[in-house]
Amino acid sequence: PLKQRLLVVANRLPVSAVRKGEDTWSLEISAGGLVSALLGVKEFEAKWIGWAGVNVPDEIGQKALSKALAEKRCIPVFLDEEIVHQYYNGYCNNILWPLFHYLGLPQEDRLATTRSFQSQFDAYKRANKMFADVVIKHYEEGDVVCFHTYDYARHFVSACTRILGLEGTPEVKWIHWQVMLGVDRLDMIKGIPQKILAFEKFLEENAKWHDKVVLLQIAVPTRTDVPEYQKLTSQVHEIVGRINGRFGTLTAVPIHHLDRSLDFHALCALYAITDIALVTSLRDGMNLVSYEFVACQASKKGVLILSEVSVRKLPSGSVLTSGGLVHASKFAGAAQSLGAGALLVNPWNITEVAQSIAYALDMPADEREKRHQHNYEHVTRHTAQDWAETFGFNATLTEVLDSPGR
Ligand code: UDP
Repeated sequence: PLKQRLLVVANRLPVSAVRKGEDTWSLEISAGGLVSALLGVKEFEAKWIGWAGVNVPDEIGQKALSKALAEKRCIPVFLDEEIVHQYYNGYCNNILWPLFHYLGLPQEDRLATTRSFQSQFDAYKRANKMFADVVIKHYEEGDVVCFHTYDYARHFVSACTRILGLEGTPEVKWIHWQVMLGVDRLDMIKGIPQKILAFEKFLEENAKWHDKVVLLQIAVPTRTDVPEYQKLTSQVHEIVGRINGRFGTLTAVPIHHLDRSLDFHALCALYAITDIALVTSLRDGMNLVSYEFVACQASKKGVLILSEVSVRKLPSGSVLTSGGLVHASKFAGAAQSLGAGALLVNPWNITEVAQSIAYALDMPADEREKRHQHNYEHVTRHTAQDWAETFGFNATLTEVLDSPGR
């Protein structure tokens, strides 16, 4: 059976060529780690593509050398002396070699390389194009090109995804995207249409964030038999559809809207990868989502955008139990609540919410961390003990209400 072909593309072919006449060449195998290593690879039929170490300006010489090299399974890339000097001696050896081997450039070299950098880099790009052209000409389906080590392969893939914008899966894509999260029952009080309209306004006014931000809205169906709620559902769908139509591209849409609930673990995973949580209820009793988000953000330290009405309603204490977060209300002042760490907004004011989104996205790391720290301490400090104490308070209230004097 035919062996699979391995195309080895390297600057230098494993042979040195010496010209003996107009169309005659003598070839000598040269030494090197790559050459020895590949001698041991028996599964593949290796073909080498590279420079033969000699300048061949004339067509007769090039043809004769190609023919001689073909017998050694080598395919030449013809580079002239100037390009070799700039690309190989210059760019590859002065800049890429130390960088790829995790050595920095010495200070004085940095100044020197800055000056000659541009022409070397241009030569590097031209040389790469010449190599690529030869590879494309000889490549056959099934041929293999690979990397010395796993790390090199990984770096190559991330360079391609970044530079060429080839991000394949949404998961990969989202690594580079800012994730905004909303988690609400689809209820009037949660202000979902207002929130989505604010996100639209934000997109309208911040073109630089297009294709870099995704809003994931989990809208848990609720009271589905009530006509008002059905109307709300269609209204939200219509707005989401319009915005995705306006700002979506072939590969991505700005809003992922899910009419479903997630189990608590999946939800926690989402909280943890979120950059900005949007809790913009028009009215809310206690909003657990905001507390859960903060509790899951220990490493990410994301921003919480919170409606000021929620804050007035937010209790001071909350604790994490195996079933999720439970609140303890203790009439604490706003300073102790999430209010001081969150960005507070009036959920009806779409302009203000849009501005807060932009502000949150550009928030400096130290401010984000400080705000998160405040919220995090609040959520973690109020212990189960605090919570238990409110039972005592409730009992007292019951006694008051039941007292004979009332
Ligand atoms: N929740 C969930 N899965 C979902 C959406 C929400 O488990 O897909 C949970 C969430 O973790 C939170 C609760 O539902 O504990 C919602 O509580 P919240 O006080 O925020 O709002 P409510 O629905 O009680 O008005």
